[in-house]
Amino acid sequence: MSRVYPPTAKWHEMERAGIIPQAGNAEEYSVGGWRNEHPVRDDECCIDCLFCWIYCPDNAVNIKDESVKGQGFSADHCKGCHICAAVCPKDCITMVPGGEFGPDEPGQSEEE
Ligand code: SF4
Ligand code: SF4
Repeated sequence: MSRVYPPTAKWHEMERAGIIPQAGNAEEYSVGGWRNEHPVRDDECCIDCLFCWIYCPDNAVNIKDESVKGQGFSADHCKGCHICAAVCPKDCITMVPGGEFGPDEPGQSEEE
């Protein structure tokens, strides 16, 4: 199948049965609008085990030099699923109400 969908494609333009004709296309789509809670990490508590980064299904935990500290979450790709908070062995991530990342929340930032 060679059809490539633009990110603006509507449901009725898609193949039936949920077929995704091109692999690796998740980066093209923003799912941030699905979020009704967002993760907040306490960097003081974080031991940089990177479990949150590994388990996030949307690659939405930003990382730099093998550390998540001081890095935020991708506002475009985090859908508020709670997985990062659930797998954190130190309970450093709290899910808070609201889809928007606040500018005063430590470690939160838009995608680099
Ligand atoms: S809430 Fe889900 S999508 Fe968002 S950063 Fe955590 S694991 Fe990733
Ligand atoms: S899972 Fe928790 S301790 Fe590990 S890197 Fe993520 S926030 Fe830090």
